[in-house]
Formats: sequence, C-alpha cells, structure tokens
Amino acid sequence: MPVAQESIESGVVMDCSAMQSLIASLLRIVGPKGLVHGADLSMRLSGKPQRAEVLVRPADTGEVSAVLAACHAAGVAVVPHGGLTGLVHGADSGPDEVILTLERMRRIETVDTSQRTLVAEAGVVLEVAQAAAAAACLSVPVDLGARGSATLGGMVATNAGGNSVLRHGMMRDNVLGLEVVLADGTVIDSMNPLVKNNTGYDIKQLFIGSEGTLGVVTRVVLRLLEAPCGYGTALLGLPDFACTGPLLRRLDQALDGRLSSFEVMWPEFYRAVSTPPAAGRPPLSHDHGLYALVEASSRVPEHDEGFASILSELMEQGLIADATLANNERERQALWALRDDVAQLRHAGPLVAYDISLPLADTGDYVERLRGAILARWPAAHCWAFGHLGDGNVHVAVHVPDLSSDDRQVLDSLVYSPLQALRGSVSAEHGIGLEKKSWLGISRNPTEIALMRALKHALDPTGVLNPGRIFDLQRSGGQR
Ligand code: ZN
Repeated sequence: MPVAQESIESGVVMDCSAMQSLIASLLRIVGPKGLVHGADLSMRLSGKPQRAEVLVRPADTGEVSAVLAACHAAGVAVVPHGGLTGLVHGADSGPDEVILTLERMRRIETVDTSQRTLVAEAGVVLEVAQAAAAAACLSVPVDLGARGSATLGGMVATNAGGNSVLRHGMMRDNVLGLEVVLADGTVIDSMNPLVKNNTGYDIKQLFIGSEGTLGVVTRVVLRLLEAPCGYGTALLGLPDFACTGPLLRRLDQALDGRLSSFEVMWPEFYRAVSTPPAAGRPPLSHDHGLYALVEASSRVPEHDEGFASILSELMEQGLIADATLANNERERQALWALRDDVAQLRHAGPLVAYDISLPLADTGDYVERLRGAILARWPAAHCWAFGHLGDGNVHVAVHVPDLSSDDRQVLDSLVYSPLQALRGSVSAEHGIGLEKKSWLGISRNPTEIALMRALKHALDPTGVLNPGRIFDLQRSGGQR
C-alpha cells in the first residue's frame, strides 16, 4: 500500500513507488558508495531533525547535475547539506525530500600564490582550507567558531560572517567565483579569479546567501590575504555601553586599519563564562559595565608594543576601565575561548538563540529594554547578550523555564518587533531558514520579498531546491 506524507512545505504528495523509482535512478547516477538509505540512513541521522528517506553523496559536479536533473524530472525537493552547523533549520529535511551532501567533494584544487586565490570543491571544511592557505603564508579572510565542521559551500550558501567581519567582510566580500548547479541540472561555471570584473551582472552574488534555494554551489574561488605575523589581543573592562562607540572609533583610528575584531560581552555573559563550572579564573573582575575582546592583526611584529600603549592611552581617556593583554598564543586562545564558551549558558537549561543586527547607537538601550521585558514576563528567565559588536551583530541567548510554544511566539516578538522601527535585522549572519521566515517582513519590505520570489521562480520554477526556506512559495494550480 502506498505511503503518502507531506513534505515540509510543498504539499506535494509522493507515493512510495515513485520515490523507489527515483532512488533507483539516483543509484544509477552515484553508485552504491554515493547513496545512503534505509537503516544506514536512520542511524546516520538519528537524533537530528531529518526525516528524509534518502541521502545522495555525489563525487563530482557531473553527478550533482545528474542528481538534480533526476529530482527535477520527478518533482522531488532537494535539501542541500554542508557541515550542518547552521542555526535556523535551513537544512532540516522532510520525508519526501532528498538530502544532497557534498561531503565527497573535498578537493582543494589550487592555492595560487600569484593571484592569491584558493580554488576548492564546496565540501572542503573551512579549517582544511585555512591550513592549505597557511602553508603558502596566506590566510582565508573569513573565520568562525564552527571552522572544524562548516564547509565552504555551506558558508557561501549562508553568507557566513564570524569574528573578523569588521575588517574583512562576510563570505560575499571574499568569494571571487563560483560553480553552481541549477535546479534542472544546468551547470553554471562562473569560476572568476579576478578581483575586478564588471562584465554584466555579478552572478555569484545571487547564490551567496540564498540558503540553497537558487542553486547548489559545487566549487568556489576564494580570495586569500597575506597571513598576519602576529596579533595584539586584549580583554577590556568598560565603564558602560556608551563607551563602545567612541572606543571602537578611536581604537580603529589608532590601529590604522589593523583592528580585526571587536567582540562584546554583557556582564551576565561574562559572569557565566568566567565562574565555575567554567574553567579557569576570571581575567578581569566582575564589576565592569561591559567587556570587549579586541584584536589587531599585523604583518609587522613591532606593532605589538604600539597596541599596549594605545590601550593605556584609551584607559587614561576613561574609555577603558581595566585591561588584560595576551602575551602569547596560549593566552590569546584562552581569551577567545572565553568569548566562544557559549556552552556554559546551557547549564541553565534549554536556550533560544537569537542573531540580530542594529545600529550601534541603539544597541545598548535595545538590550536593556529587551532584558527588562523578558524578566518582567518570566521572572525566572535568564538573558545573555554578546556578539560581534564591531559590525553591529548581537547574539542574545534566552532561557525561559518550561517555555511553551505560545511563550516562544511572545519571546520572538519581544526580540524582533522593536527592530523594525530601528531598521535592524532579524538575522545578522545565521540566515532565515525555516525558523525566521515568519519574521522576514520585519527586515524586508513587500516589494523586496516579491523580487526574491521572482528570482526564485526564474531559477527554480517548479520549486525543487530547498523549498519553503526563507519564504513560502506561492502556490498555483495546487503546485508549490
Ligand atoms: Zn556569530
């Protein structure tokens, strides 16, 4: 008897025999090593929000193209997977969808020291790309905490940001070229290696940040930079939030463009990551109004002393209350570990994590009002704020005991609704996925969303690529 189940968004009902015949076609394309289903797939996906019955692992672009063509012909949705480090459920799969992973496409093709580019397949893990660049005394401009799992393709698809956006921008600013496979299997070779190339539309930008809804990225040309010789890294205690604006500007001016990170931790966050059960002693006391982790990278080792004297000048000016500098790489890593130790927040219980962006001048008030509103509604709640403040990005983690789905709606509204008037963003760097699509209208107006739908329709008219992520597809004639 055929089993019929709805996919996440499409409403298309797939019967068992049609899926079986698609699986047979996929097997012919990728061979037994390239397809996982049945008990093997259940084991692999157990505990994850994945309900797909089949996962394909193509070995090259030709196979990706053939897989997409087959799924397109069968009208079956495809959910592309990178390193699964995303936080907005953009890669969750439904029972009538096929998972496409590029985990077998992990070849670094070239590190070109003259052009200063890295050409790689999309399944390459960021850390591996960083090591390949470092071996040639170069560096990948984008870095983030999930570097050990995040793949270049996933980072392109989600326009990943991270810890040095202030200086180097997001993926969008560092990708020179892409190879992408469209929904119907058409391969678009746009592997441009040039920094300057104004020959018509910049096609790659369409796909960067499209969250797998417009095409599957198969190869990438990344821009590389000269590797820094050293870092000046310091944890600062600040008197209050009002200091952050002037401090950021004066630090950036004094460091002459070398400031690469300006991370901020509100006191509740700093306390959580610097008191037991967190490891180690707090490098600064717990009585400051705000904490900033700042870093300057440099090609010239002598700049280290300059960094310390710049900080002491800013201390004399009252913008910094206390500071501790990293004297070596181990101390530098220890300061970053503090900022990255988000796991400490989980001792309180399950967390809801937010990733928002707003103008710096409004951020201090916004965070205080949000904290007040959350505690007024749920007195036993916890609210921690931290983030990449140098680029306007704040992460807020909230724990509300026994959070119901109605409570979650209220909480989301407390976080997102005030952003509309401030022209803030409901997603600074994590994307929209499934989780934030009902809030897209806070940050994007109806004409912008209509244009997004038109682009989706032009590139994927039958809606087989990650449908229902970012926004719902308009339905016509019972189709998506
Ligand atoms: Zn972040």
